[in-house]
Amino acid sequence: MPKPLWAPWRLEYIQHADELDRCIFCEPEPELLVARGETALVVLNKFPYSSGHVLVAPQRHVGDFGAVEANEASDVHALAAHAIDALRATYAPQGFNLGWNIGRVAGAGIEDHVHLHVVPRWNGDTNFMPVLADVKVLPEHLAATAERLRDAW
Ligand SMILES: [Zn+2]
Repeated sequence: MPKPLWAPWRLEYIQHADELDRCIFCEPEPELLVARGETALVVLNKFPYSSGHVLVAPQRHVGDFGAVEANEASDVHALAAHAIDALRATYAPQGFNLGWNIGRVAGAGIEDHVHLHVVPRWNGDTNFMPVLADVKVLPEHLAATAERLRDAW
């Protein structure tokens, strides 16, 4: 069994998620917005599990997984595939984890707007992740990552 990624800044995020005063998918921070499709969008996760961790969501504010329309689901899938290509070109990860967290108990920080996580993985990343922890919260680092992905898009 692979070890879960150790991401201590996630805990603080989960604890403060209820204090967010806006939806990061309906009103994404421009510097974190990577791409928009017809009915979905890609934003860089401000509290990543790894470098280049992006979130793909329908543009419509929808919290029920079953209420995502077929065209939106198709757009999310296409954008996730495009994100994987852009991440491969930019950071050369060796693998990816893709997943939907439904409910706070499952780790969802934002429960009322469903989103797909695309998490790049590297061999041994569970070991060096803690070393990278301090750089991940730097806004300029995140903005630079988003810019690199937009360039590769
Ligand atoms: Zn929303």
